[in-house]
Amino acid sequence: MTLRLHNTLTGAKEAFEPLEKGHVRMYTCGPTIWNYAHVGNLRSFLFYDLVRRHLRVSGYRVTHVMNLTDIDDRILDQAMHAGMSIGEYTKPYATAFFEDMAALRAERADHYPRATEHIPEMVEMIATLLERGNAYAADGDVYFRIASFPGYGALSHLDRAGLRAGARVATDKYDKENVSDFALWKKAQPEDEKIGAAWDAPFGRGRPGWHIECSAMSKRYLGDTLDIHAGGVDLMFPHHENEIAQSEAANHQQFARVWLHSEHLFDATGEKMSKSAGGFTTLRDLVEAGHDPLAIRFFLIANAHYRSRLRLSSEALHAAAEQVRRLREFFDRVERTPSAASDDEGLEQKTAAVRAAYREALDDDLNLPQGIGVVFDLIREANAALDSDQVGPRNKASLLGLIDDVDAHLDVVRAEEPGLAEEVERLIGERESARRARDFARSDQIRDDLRRRGIALEDSKAGVRWRRVAPTGAERS
Ligand SMILES: [Zn+2]
Repeated sequence: MTLRLHNTLTGAKEAFEPLEKGHVRMYTCGPTIWNYAHVGNLRSFLFYDLVRRHLRVSGYRVTHVMNLTDIDDRILDQAMHAGMSIGEYTKPYATAFFEDMAALRAERADHYPRATEHIPEMVEMIATLLERGNAYAADGDVYFRIASFPGYGALSHLDRAGLRAGARVATDKYDKENVSDFALWKKAQPEDEKIGAAWDAPFGRGRPGWHIECSAMSKRYLGDTLDIHAGGVDLMFPHHENEIAQSEAANHQQFARVWLHSEHLFDATGEKMSKSAGGFTTLRDLVEAGHDPLAIRFFLIANAHYRSRLRLSSEALHAAAEQVRRLREFFDRVERTPSAASDDEGLEQKTAAVRAAYREALDDDLNLPQGIGVVFDLIREANAALDSDQVGPRNKASLLGLIDDVDAHLDVVRAEEPGLAEEVERLIGERESARRARDFARSDQIRDDLRRRGIALEDSKAGVRWRRVAPTGAERS
């Protein structure tokens, strides 16, 4: 089996092979820590997690770098208003980012470089670009000269003629040669000094532009050529085009061999989820509304293929929670059910076929939704076999192996929910005792208290089951 990934650069699915045998160098654009991350960004971050997990399943060692942007106009603006240095201002949001990632069970990257800690690398790259004529200084600012890089636009398949049409704009307030030229370095303003956002450079005191940080920091940790560069599709232009132009003009090497872009997340009304669009929902908002971070994780990585658009809604999150619950329940059941005397050969063959189909779906450009679909089909059959006591020792081992295959990407089945399950089970037991004692007031109270906390109880023949729902009084659309 070969792993095939859709490379934005060529517009095609290609067999993946890293430059160095067995080792993948991967760079992913991280958060701008000016505020909490919105769910649209979290979709990209969990996509990175899916990529690295499947690379590992495929037998690769992965060196993964994800930057934290801590120099940005919004950060400068907010820090100024708050009367803080940019370091003080961004600190709680950096902490919140790592908390969100942990709650969503994203594996940690190997390096999380910050722009403020890599100014020398950026200054060096800008100096090289100036020396080579790919950049020019204008009144203390430094710009990249797009006309000097013929490959510009190749990633987003832009019409280069259209870009040139701007021609020279002499009256532009930034004195840019061409409207499309972008800033590598911005001259320090008196306010920048107060908040610690100005650094010395041979071309004048100032601060780096956003794009140069990714080029400089990826080179620092991963070298001139990356195997994989990933990001949200909204970063393709101009950010990723600019990264390619800077890096290839400075290093004279291909920058990234494979580009992966994950699609947008939309809210219930069809608006793209982003801070600027006002549809600003954070992980904290969703958790407050009663959604389980693991259901949110499942929704973001398994509900739609990463190159498809995805729509956020309470219903979709509830459906994801139900799928997580079914997976966990199935896992518990297989583990707990005593083996039958003999194995069901039909089930054995089907499980093997489903494990192969699951792997094939992931190898086909990380098609997790398709893989999960075949797994749920098998779960239905296996549950029927469990009902009629037909699951033997070999069947059990194969089914648990399948759960492990799935959990290598999902990481929601064996994930711990510290304390919660025990507490709910204890309350369910208490409610049962109250009912046996015909204390229905107490039994109803326990049910209602749990419902307010987002746990719904369901009475069934097999006993009382519970599942997560939005807490009453806190429902949001
Ligand atoms: Zn970037």
